[in-house]
Amino acid sequence: MKPITRAAIGLLLMLLGLSARAADHSTTLVCAGAKVYPSPTAPPIDNAVLIVGEGRIVTVAPRNAAKYYDLPGSALKLDCVGKVVVAGFWNSHVHFTSGWDGAATAPAAKLQTQMQEMLTRWGFTTVWDLGSTPEDTMALRRRVDAGEIQGPKILMAGDIFPKGGHPVYLPAEMKLPQAATPQEAGQMAKGYMAMGLDGIKLFTGAYMGDKPVINMDTAIVKAAVDVAHAQGKPVFAHPQNRVGMENALNGGVDILAHTIPEWGFAFTTADLAQMKRQHTALIPTLTLWTTVVPDTQIQDQLVQAGVSELKAYFSEGGTVLFGTDVGFITKYDTSQEFEFMGRAMGWGDVLASLTTNPSAYFKAPTKGRVEKGMDADLVILDADPATDVRNLAKVAYTIRGGKVIYQK
Ligand SMILES: [Zn+2]
Repeated sequence: MKPITRAAIGLLLMLLGLSARAADHSTTLVCAGAKVYPSPTAPPIDNAVLIVGEGRIVTVAPRNAAKYYDLPGSALKLDCVGKVVVAGFWNSHVHFTSGWDGAATAPAAKLQTQMQEMLTRWGFTTVWDLGSTPEDTMALRRRVDAGEIQGPKILMAGDIFPKGGHPVYLPAEMKLPQAATPQEAGQMAKGYMAMGLDGIKLFTGAYMGDKPVINMDTAIVKAAVDVAHAQGKPVFAHPQNRVGMENALNGGVDILAHTIPEWGFAFTTADLAQMKRQHTALIPTLTLWTTVVPDTQIQDQLVQAGVSELKAYFSEGGTVLFGTDVGFITKYDTSQEFEFMGRAMGWGDVLASLTTNPSAYFKAPTKGRVEKGMDADLVILDADPATDVRNLAKVAYTIRGGKVIYQK
């Protein structure tokens, strides 16, 4: 035990609300006076004390109960009075594509700035890259894990397209892995698994502009799914249209990476029952639909269709995972996505899509909640999302594994 005087001084500093500038080498971190939401369903703790040590949450308790905590003098005290603490966010649909090429050798400062603008300033502590150049993303992941770049935990899925299904919105010179047969898809999936990727992403519907959508056959979907599932890895699908959705579901895909961008599209009772039976998760990507066409009226229709799909799926008890397709889209601000999602579900359900849902779905039991013993992946907000769901975008600090990776 350290001398009680040191603990008393630590407590005094804490009660005075003194704060220090964030330094990432600090191992103990204190946040006192904030409102903490331990999870989307647990009652909040007002005026809490939160202590983080060695990457984990050591204490989270009402401030007046935190009398005898033994804090080292070097503890970093964050300015938390009036703030709101929630668990670190997952973005289950991002891309490290444009601007991230040459990630193995690009200057760390440049990548750090991009990482902040795109992800960490919006609270993301874990992200799923659903298709980029694996060499770039894997290099970026290594540099983040080495502490050279402050960033989220990066998971990556390898892409497979149907034969001839080079979507019109991707540069023609991009080499896309296209599978003509189940055997080819199985080989590609095995290749991705051998590279150490964390999942597979299938384009079960490729958008071809004026020409019809090119869909991936169910047998091809199933071949890739079998390889991933044999290793306990998830499979995402970009559905695009009804056939793309049906082939994805019939082939056993785990997650629909988008709602379906069609005015008038609706999940049928049978679709919803199948998704429930197969535990299919849904990533709404509603903001994306404001970027795919120039006509604002059509944008509104696509967003409305997505909101209705989300509402129908959510009301049947479906698992919603937050995701924006950022990196493909350049709208980094998450406020609009929260507002759109808020039309279909409550703010706590939106928080669940950012925290508890992905940690449960992707089997990361030490993430997603602000509780003793959990990973210290935290977002400290300037305002309470219970009063306005868009406040989930008002990030003051992003903390990953007990280190401040973004500070406003
Ligand atoms: Zn995407």
